[in-house]
Formats: sequence, structure tokens, C-alpha cells
Amino acid sequence: MSKRILLVEDEKGLILTLTDRLIKEGYTVETASDGDTGYQRASTEAFDLVILDLMLPRKNGFDICRDLRQKSIQTPILMLTARGQVVDKVVGLKLGADDYVTKPFEMMELLARVEALLRRAPIQNNPSSYQFGVVSIDFQRAEVMRDGLPVELSAREFKLLKYFIEHRGVTISRDELLNEVWGYDAMPSTRTVDVHIAWLRQKLEPNPRHPQYILTLHGLGYKFVG
Ligand code: CA
Repeated sequence: MSKRILLVEDEKGLILTLTDRLIKEGYTVETASDGDTGYQRASTEAFDLVILDLMLPRKNGFDICRDLRQKSIQTPILMLTARGQVVDKVVGLKLGADDYVTKPFEMMELLARVEALLRRAPIQNNPSSYQFGVVSIDFQRAEVMRDGLPVELSAREFKLLKYFIEHRGVTISRDELLNEVWGYDAMPSTRTVDVHIAWLRQKLEPNPRHPQYILTLHGLGYKFVG
């Protein structure tokens, strides 16, 4: 089934070019040309992705993003902005946007990001439990058992493991893990990711030196297979 994208943008030219191109790529595209309409549609209809301009009449992209997340609407959001300042990026991601493209952008770049966001949408939104090998996880109780014995995971390790499971089979970069699991508050380095993954492997892998579940893909990041 074709993926449904909501494009919230007020520049007529850009609406036409983007709609045209996205339809050619096989997506179904709906548009809203002001913030109120955009918010209304994004909060009441099912979309696979929202492409959201920052500067909009009536309600800006930041407010739309924040209000959608407050209503627990988890549709992936790709923000468009003309400003391109780092502070905007940080604010946008904190408010719940998933990715960010600065205008003017290359169409290929935008399409690549659209595709990436659609691909990484959780396969299963809220799994209540999951099992791989001798490891079983109860997400509601935040409990992990290995061979029937409890495993102590820190809150961060648990979040990391959950993210891997929700995106199993997908290559995930260190930067993505930092954004998704750490957020922008802590400003840790990608080395932090590696350290936490080493700890997870120690606790969960049968042979941490030769991991079979949390794989390293050199130059790309990590992939969970389980
Ligand atoms: Ca605009």
C-alpha cells in the first residue's frame, strides 16, 4: 500500500514541485498550506509521515510539532526550514521532530530522508514483550531475564535495547542512537554509544567478543538481529 505523506507548506511553488515528485516516487500526498489546517489534519488523520515547514501562517512548525507529540501522536516528522541554524535543529528535535532539512535542499536529499524515516518507523509500535535466544524482555515491567535469571540493566541500557528491538534488522548509525536514546540534553559523544553497547553485549550476548545479536557494521553503525 502506498505511504501517505502530509505536506504542510505555504510556498505554492514548493508545494507543486514536492507533491509532483513525491507522487512520482509512489507516495500518496496530501497538503495543507497553513499551520492550523496542517495541525488539524496531522492530529486527526492517519499519515505515515509529515513534512513540516517551520515558518507557516497561523501556527508555526515548532508549535505543531510540540502539540502533536503532547497528544502522543508519533507520526514521523521531517522539518523544513530556511534558517538552518544549529539552535533551530536542536529545538526542532527536542520538540519531537525526527529529522531536518534546510532550504534550499536537493530533491535527492529530501527523498533519501523521507525514505529513511518511513523505513525506520517502528515495525511494531509497542511490543509488550520480546525474546531472542535465551533472553526475554518484559517492556511493561522493564525486566530482562537471561536463562531464567534477572539481568540488571541501567535505564539507558534498557532504552537502547528497546530501540534496537523496535528497529530490528535495520542499520542504525551512532548519531541516530545518540538522538533517539540520549537526546540532545546530555551531548554525549558517539564513544558513549560504543561503551553502552559493549555493556549490553556483556550482559546479553552468549559470547560478547563475537556478538550474534548486536552487530557492528563498520563505518555504518549497529544492527540488531534477533
Ligand atoms: Ca514557509
